[in-house]
Amino acid sequence: MNKVILVLCDALRYDTALEGMGFLGHLVETKQASFYKVIGELPSMSRPTYETIHTGLPVSEHRIIANYVVRRSEKPNIFQLTVEAGKTTAAAAYYWFSELYNRVPYDRLEHREVDDDSLLIQHGRFYTEDDYPDIELFVTAGMLVRRFEPDYLLVHPMGMDYLGEKHGANSSEYRNQAIMQDMYMSALVGEWIERGYNILITGDHGMNDDGRHGGTTPDVREVPLFLIRPDHPGGGISNEILSQLQIAPTVCRLLNIPIPDTMKHPPIV
Ligand SMILES: [Zn+2]
Repeated sequence: MNKVILVLCDALRYDTALEGMGFLGHLVETKQASFYKVIGELPSMSRPTYETIHTGLPVSEHRIIANYVVRRSEKPNIFQLTVEAGKTTAAAAYYWFSELYNRVPYDRLEHREVDDDSLLIQHGRFYTEDDYPDIELFVTAGMLVRRFEPDYLLVHPMGMDYLGEKHGANSSEYRNQAIMQDMYMSALVGEWIERGYNILITGDHGMNDDGRHGGTTPDVREVPLFLIRPDHPGGGISNEILSQLQIAPTVCRLLNIPIPDTMKHPPIV
C-alpha cells in the first residue's frame, strides 16, 4: 500500500516522546514500529521546519527562514508531488499550512474547510488558535481518512507547543500532553494500519525549559520519528540518527512517487 499519514506533533521533543508515549512505545517494543532520533534543521522554528519537512530542503535553500515569511512554497513539496501524481491530499493542520501550500493571505471563513481538487491540500481542515484542542484535531483527521481516503494526510496537533510555551518543557502540563496525544492516537492508529497506511509520527522542533525554541541545543533540536508500516515489521528502537531532511524523500518513497532532484538526502525505506 502506498498511502501515508504524517502526524506532525508540534514541539514534541525526542525524550518526551520516548518517555511519555506508551502506546507507540508498545508498538516499538513489539517490533510493530521503528523509533528513531531525528536532528531537526535550524532554526528550530515552526514555519521553516514545516517547509523543510515537506521539501527536504534546509532553510537557506527553501528560504522560509522565519515564521514571519508568509508566502507559498516555491519548491517541490510533498503536497504538490502527490497531486501531480494523480493522488489525493488532505490535512488537519494549523493555518500556516494553508498559507504554505494553498493560499495567501489566509481567509478564516473561506479557507478553513476546503474540498477542492485544484488545491495542493485538496481536503483541508485548518485552525488558527494555538490552544485548539488536540482531541478535536485528531478526530478531524480520523474523519478525513474515512470520508476521503487520502493518499497523503498531514495531521498537525499544536498542544505540545501551546503548553510548552506556556509552562516550559520541564512541566507536568507539557509532559502530560504527550501522554494525551499518545492516547488519542491509540484510538486511530489501528484503523489506519488496517486501511493500509504507512504512519510517521514526528515533531517539527522541541522545547526548552524556558518555553522557547529556535536555538541549537538538543532539547529544541532532537525530535522523534515513529515509523509504522502495515506490510513490514518494525525495527524497535534504532541507533541510527536521522536528518530531518530525510523525511520528505521517505514520504515520497512510501507514496511510490518519484523523489525530485531537490531532495538530496536518502530515504530511510
Ligand atoms: Zn512548531
